[in-house]
Amino acid sequence: MENTGKILIIDDEAGICQGCCRALQPQGFTVETAGNFQEGLCKVQAETFDLVLLDVMLPDGRGIDLLKPIHDRDPETVSIILTGYATVELAVDTIKKGAYNFISKPFSADMLLMIVNQGLEKRHLSLEAKRLQSLEQETIELARAKEEAERLNEFKSSFLLMAAHELRSPVSGAQSLVRTLLRGLAGELQPQQSELLSRVEIRLNFLLGMINEILTLASSKTIEIDQPLEKVQVQPVMQRVIEAYAEEAKNQQIVFRVVAPGKSITAMATENGLDTVLRNLIGNAIKYSIPGSTVEVEIKKVSGYARISVSDAGIGIPVEDVPHIWDEFFRAKNAHLAGIAGTGLGLSIVKQFVDRFGGKVGVVSTLGKGTTFTVSLRLS
Ligand code: ADP
Repeated sequence: MENTGKILIIDDEAGICQGCCRALQPQGFTVETAGNFQEGLCKVQAETFDLVLLDVMLPDGRGIDLLKPIHDRDPETVSIILTGYATVELAVDTIKKGAYNFISKPFSADMLLMIVNQGLEKRHLSLEAKRLQSLEQETIELARAKEEAERLNEFKSSFLLMAAHELRSPVSGAQSLVRTLLRGLAGELQPQQSELLSRVEIRLNFLLGMINEILTLASSKTIEIDQPLEKVQVQPVMQRVIEAYAEEAKNQQIVFRVVAPGKSITAMATENGLDTVLRNLIGNAIKYSIPGSTVEVEIKKVSGYARISVSDAGIGIPVEDVPHIWDEFFRAKNAHLAGIAGTGLGLSIVKQFVDRFGGKVGVVSTLGKGTTFTVSLRLS
């Protein structure tokens, strides 16, 4: 394998520099030289070297004093001292100051290559150890951030659950009172009063719908994670949901076309959860459809999954909004502009349940043409 290390030789003996270059360059190393302390200092401060061969005695300073600037630049740069008078004291002193090894002059090319290769291997291992250490640190930090996000999410869900729960009674109380008034049970109303109260009723209905959606979403998050899944027959649940929306579909002159195999498909889910998922998809398909169009529902087996798709010929979703539609409270611009009421919670509820069932959601939409939502659930 080609050597890629960058090596600096700092030595005032031109012969040593040339000899080292001759030994190292053919091996593929990039080699630079400096003939005195000052030149060496400039080079080690300006760039990072993998390894520095450092003469112990330079005409204008001690080679050992270059160890600090070398390691300030990169603590993993390997420094090897070149010395003409190797003693144990010198060896101990240089190693204490951070040199990796020393080599006594004169030395052979083989000896130099052996020590250089050992030094570079040590650098490689230290860098790898550092990389692993920082990866480990990153993993710990990610796990901590994930735990914190989960804790905040749980807090948000229980807060929403509590707030929605507290709001439901007074709002539904107000709704009953308004209905009582509208039925004339508390005295006859002037037409203008009826008209105003009807508008109040519409707003209260919307508010109550929103509170119920928040409750569904928050409770779907706080239900025990290990709540057992059951084998649920998809077609009967779909049939019930379509029947529940028959009136609403009729009002918009929407017709359903259902394509499903004769024998019912069974998927892993909970019956209530699947019902909620389908209600949201069918409800949206009707709500965002062009009156007089068809909503197509298809149920089929696709590679180990029960795939349910709901297609409408409605307003579609702007391409830039598609990635956000599963976010809580998100509503696409065109839905707002069309004046279609909604809370932006239905699809978050769908995603929450489908995730819990170990399934997948998907959407394909063309603005102004229509949308197909798919839910794939594991077959039982
Ligand atoms: P909403 O109560 O607003 O319908 P959802 O969470 O169910 O809330 O949907 C989020 C947004 O995704 C909607 O506001 C709408 O912009 C878009 N959307 C969902 N279903 C459809 C659909 N069938 N056709 C077009 N847009 C849709």
